[in-house]
Amino acid sequence: GVPVLLHIIFFRSVVSPPSSNFLLLGPSGAGKTAFTTLLEAKSSPASKTSHSTHTSQTSTLVSVSLPPTVPTASNRFRSVNDPSLKEAARNPIRYRLRDTPGHGKLRVSQGLSELQSMSQSKDVKMKLRGVLFMVDTAALVDETTLRDAATYLHDVLLVLQKRALGKGKSSTKRDTEIPVLVAGNKQDLFTALPPGSVREKLEAEIDRIRKSKTKGLMDASMDSEVDGEEEVLGDDDAQGVFSFKLLEEVGIKVDVIGGAVKGDQEEEIGSGVRRWEEWIGMCL
Ligand code: GDP
Repeated sequence: GVPVLLHIIFFRSVVSPPSSNFLLLGPSGAGKTAFTTLLEAKSSPASKTSHSTHTSQTSTLVSVSLPPTVPTASNRFRSVNDPSLKEAARNPIRYRLRDTPGHGKLRVSQGLSELQSMSQSKDVKMKLRGVLFMVDTAALVDETTLRDAATYLHDVLLVLQKRALGKGKSSTKRDTEIPVLVAGNKQDLFTALPPGSVREKLEAEIDRIRKSKTKGLMDASMDSEVDGEEEVLGDDDAQGVFSFKLLEEVGIKVDVIGGAVKGDQEEEIGSGVRRWEEWIGMCL
């Protein structure tokens, strides 16, 4: 009814912190829409709006709330008996998640341009707190799917690396880092790869992409001056093997955490989305 609606409007405008934006990226079929829909449903059980079919060509920005029991970076030492928990239940911490639409190539290009503009934005309201890159962990055994996902992730990380290196040159003050969560979805499926091997597979594939890119750049620099430094992910000499750890040197932290959008309500197989929400909480 009207009071509920008013309540929601009031709540959103008052409680919503202005600068807690997260970007949800990843290949088609990973479960991004399902995840967004679940978070919306968990945030406002009263509302009947369903976004299960995002067919629009523009990205959707949803405002959702963190479960009160999920700690944030600022309140992580709170105990379960803390009265502020009750307060948190009444005033949940909200954040905004931008899901990127489209299909195939369009999805990738839109996701990357969204990342470009959000990560470079000087507007406080647009400030990006973190990137969630979702993958289907049951699909990564397929080589083409793995290559697709790794290529997309490589490009995402390269955008963030360029941003990090660019900022370092122009000013001494370090810009806030944008951490990346590789959300390994569909852990409920018994064919799913465990997060550890998802990490290894992605790292190995990115290593391959990086090596072929380095070779391309070296060939190109024969005839022209090409500054490959910012173009190659991780160490500028791509001799060593790529790992997400390499990126920590430029301030990009990558975590790989498993979960399942499907298993969230049942608390059975998979670990639901709780651990991703905890990751989000640590960015707030
Ligand atoms: P998107 O293209 O990334 O937005 O992916 P969707 O949200 O459309 O999900 C693709 C398919 O995966 C849908 O059929 C979902 O029902 C399914 N799906 C999403 N999450 C899970 C999960 O955790 N486990 C399983 N088994 N299926 C899932």
